[in-house]
Formats: sequence, C-alpha cells, structure tokens
Amino acid sequence: MKTFMGIAASNGIAIAPAFRLTGLNLSVKKRSIEDPTAEIKRLHAAIDVSKDELLIIKRKALKDLSHPVAEVFQAHIAILADPVFLEKIELMIKQNGVDAAFALQTVVDDYRKHLQATTPDHQTRYRLVDVNDVARRVLGHLLGRPLASSFQADYPVIVVTHELTPSQTVQFSPSLVRGIVSDMGGQTSHAVIMSRGLAIPTVVGLQGALSSIHDGDIVIVNGLTGEVIVNPTDAQRATYTELIKEDQRRNHQLMASKQENVRADKKRLPMIVANIGLPSDVDGALKAGADGVGLFRTEFLFLSSKRLPTENEQFRAYKVVLTQMAGRPVTIRTADVGGDKTLPYLRAATEANPFLGNRAIRLAFSQPDSFRVQLRALLRAAVYGKLSVMFPLVTTLDELKRAKQMMANERAKLTHQHISVGDVRVGIMVETPAVAVLADQFASEVDFMSIGTNDLTQYVMAADRGNQQVADLYQPNNPAVFRLIKTVIGACHDNHISVSVCGEMAADKMAIPILVGMGLDAFSANPRSINKVRCLIKRLNHRKMVTLANKVVTMAGTTNQVEAFVQQAVHNEAQTYK
Ligand code: PEP
Ligand code: MG
Repeated sequence: MKTFMGIAASNGIAIAPAFRLTGLNLSVKKRSIEDPTAEIKRLHAAIDVSKDELLIIKRKALKDLSHPVAEVFQAHIAILADPVFLEKIELMIKQNGVDAAFALQTVVDDYRKHLQATTPDHQTRYRLVDVNDVARRVLGHLLGRPLASSFQADYPVIVVTHELTPSQTVQFSPSLVRGIVSDMGGQTSHAVIMSRGLAIPTVVGLQGALSSIHDGDIVIVNGLTGEVIVNPTDAQRATYTELIKEDQRRNHQLMASKQENVRADKKRLPMIVANIGLPSDVDGALKAGADGVGLFRTEFLFLSSKRLPTENEQFRAYKVVLTQMAGRPVTIRTADVGGDKTLPYLRAATEANPFLGNRAIRLAFSQPDSFRVQLRALLRAAVYGKLSVMFPLVTTLDELKRAKQMMANERAKLTHQHISVGDVRVGIMVETPAVAVLADQFASEVDFMSIGTNDLTQYVMAADRGNQQVADLYQPNNPAVFRLIKTVIGACHDNHISVSVCGEMAADKMAIPILVGMGLDAFSANPRSINKVRCLIKRLNHRKMVTLANKVVTMAGTTNQVEAFVQQAVHNEAQTYK
C-alpha cells in the first residue's frame, strides 16, 4: 500500500485497476521472412482487427461525440481499405522478403518524405496525420503491442498518465475511465475542466505517479481530497466502497430534489446556466435543470476532430444545442485555441509563453478564414434559438471592434446570398486584467460580459493555471481577483447589461456567497454542479452576503484567509455543498 497526495481536481471517489496511458515504443527492426504469403496473411489479420476496433470507436464517437469526430475514424477505415496503399506493402514483402511491420513502416515513411518534399496543403497534411495514426494501430497488432487508449480498455480503469491533454480526455467514457491520475496539471487546466464535465474523479500534480504505479495496481482516487492510494488494504477498500455508495446516494437525492426559483429571503434567484463542451453535453445540462447554456467552449468540438470542422458541420452542432435548449438562452464562445489547447491542423508557431501568446481571439485574427467560417455558422444557427456569442481573451477595445466588424461583414454576405441569419447578442469574456480594469469602457460596446475567472486568476496572480509548481499562488479567491470582479459587475450594472461568471469559481462554495453579495446575474457551471449551486444560493441571505462581499474586497489576505472568513460566515448554509 502506498499513499500519494496531489491536487484534487474533479470531485468524486473511484476504485479500479490502473491503466497507464503512455506513448508506446513501436520501433520496427527489419526482419527477413521465409514465407511471404503467410506474412501477407498476417498483415491482413492485423488490418482486419484494426478495422474492427475503428468501427467500434466510430460508433462510440457517433453516439457520444459528434459527426466530424466519427468521420475521422471512417477516414481511418478507408485508408486500411485503400488498394494502392496495401499493394505497396504487399509488394515490398514479396520482392524484398521483409516482415509486414517493416514493410508498412517503410511505405508510411516514404509517403511522409514525399509529402515533406512537396508543400502539403491542409488536406494532405490531415491525411498524413491519419495515415500515421492508422499505421501505429496496425503496427501495434503486428508487433504484439496493441495501442493503449481509453477506447480499447473494455473494463473500468483508473487512467494514469504523465500529462493529461484535452484531446485525450475528450475520448474518455466515464463508464470505462472511472478516475484519472496525472503527474502534471492544475485545477483549472482545460483537460481537468473536461474531466469534471465528464464527472470523472481526478487528481493531478501527483509527481511520480506514472513511474510508480503499474498496470493493474488497484488505485483509489479521491477527487475530494487529492489522496491517491495504490494497492489499498482490505479495510481501506471497504471504507472507500462505502464512501462511493454514499456519494452516489447524495447525487441521486440532489438530482431528484425539486428546484424552485425562489429563495429563503424571497429575492429573485440569479440564472444558473451550464458550461458545455460538446452538443452531447446538453442532455446533462437539461437534466440538471440548467436555465440555459452560459458557455459552450466550441474549441472542444475542434479538439475532438482531426481537421477544422466545416461551416456546415459547425452550423449543425450549434443548431443542435440551440434547438435542444428550446428557447432557453445559449451563449456560444468563439474558439479559444492556443495556450494549453493546440490543434495539430492549425499551424501556429511554437511560443515560449503560450498563455501570453497567440491564443483565442488573437489566433482568430491571425487565421481569419477559420474565424469567418465559425462566425457564419453561428449567424446561421442563431435562427434556431436565443443565441449570444462571446469572444474569448479580449484585451483591447480595438480587438472587440474588429471582431464585431468581422461578424457584421459575414452577416451582410450571408444576407446578400439570401441565407437566413438570426439575431445575436454580442459579448466578451473578461479574462484579462486590462478588460477588467477598463470594464466601464467596454460595457457600452457589448450586450453582456462573462467573467472567465480561470484565466483572470492566472493573469492577475501571474501563476500558470496548469503548473502544479505555482498552484499555491493560483488563488481564484484572492481579494485582488474579487476586487476586479466587483469593478466588472459594477460597470455592467451601471450600463444596464448582464454579467455572469463562467469560470470554475461559479461552482465554488467559498466564492458563491461573495458573488451573490456582489449582485452577479448568472452563474455558469458544469452540469454536475448546477443543483448544488442552486441549493446553496437559495439558502443565502442576500443582505448578509452584500456585507460579506464588501468586507472581502477590503482584505489584504490570501485565498485561505478569504475562505476561512467565508466559511465562518456561511458555515450552516454551505454545509450541504460537497
Ligand atoms: C475561464 O477562463 O474562466 C473560462 C471559462 O475559459 P476557459 O476555462 O475555457 O479558459
Ligand atoms: Mg478562459
């Protein structure tokens, strides 16, 4: 038995065998073979298993994710059926008397060299990425080391990895991936936000996890405390099994409890809306009783695809969300790519400080064609519901005006082409201190603002949100952050526009009382937290929270001191919030 302590990143407790997610060593050595016919048969057997796997993955992607993702796997299946590709490998086996793995690797390497010698367009670059992926899958079977991926674990596991990436996480199914442990990462890194959305208990920043946990070790992940127990004693297993059952009972009770929009003090309740990453998340949002969608992180749609989704594919995804939300407000954020969310198909220069670099709206301006595609898809989808569009990581008023102008241009073009477009409210994310400080200047230019406290915190505290080494300094509940939030809420209300928080703070029981006291109009949280957020807010006395909020912004302390202060003030009200 061994116990580790990391950063508690996604609530819940899980027990399951470890499944190490590592890059596989699939290096190929040339082998001479005696019987080319048998070797070609072996190649076909490996291809057939790979096709079967890809079909399963494709079906799963269709069910849980989106069409563009499923199409990627269809393209992989098509590569395996490509006669030219197969002929080249077979010919090499026959003529050179080499083994199938070497022949496959050589054909793929030749293809790569050929492409690199030319200037590949987008389409061929995607194809190269696809061919490499498929080749690795077949190679894995030929070498007796099948690819490890969450899709292939057909029993419940705890994924143990060095650094969790958003593109990995988007593939996880909570019925198989019961928990996640990673060496690196912070509480609001994007992969963690996704694991929270998927309700997978997660502990990050557990340095040495990957090197000291073996495949098959029984692992307990406690996403509430950050504790990870490897090969627990029988007594520990029994205790945690009981805790899991208790957690499930509490969640069922919360989901079943009828939620009315009145508070103990009869004040109007703020809106409680949902953060989603894919259209398939809408179901959970509706079941949780969300008043709308407060943040659709569209880049997750892009991350789960091997190429930029087309205008029509995006239009369909946005339309699904708007239609399913049936007239409830839906706020869609234009893609926030860059920082810790890189897309292999959007060529961007390597940067020393990606979080301070070409990210979000900045990247949109440097890749205007892709941005226009998204704007067009959004304007067309707006016909189907109550759509608000917001721009991420705005820093200057010029950027906002430029984005609005681009949107107006696309609207004019679509109208000219007689394509229907709908009304859209336009807003910004408040994530940079520059915008927070000058919120009054921005407020007259937008219909609403949404405070992205995950980024605002990292930029105010100068502490990378994904770096466990500065996790102590990454303090969302620091008075400095609250003072800026108060400025933003005041500027919005002075200009009669609404303001929400869509960062993880919206579901933090220590921050909610302060935000209520500041008069925040909407809380946007992951669907799993919606009921808890609503329950807590209903129990809070508004006048008492105003006094509390006023006190917090005058404090000179740290997150810990603010939390201790809030804890004391709302001890009873916050008790049910786990
Ligand atoms: C935020 O920064 O708070 C936010 C909601 O955006 P993201 O977490 O996607 O950067
Ligand atoms: Mg952000």
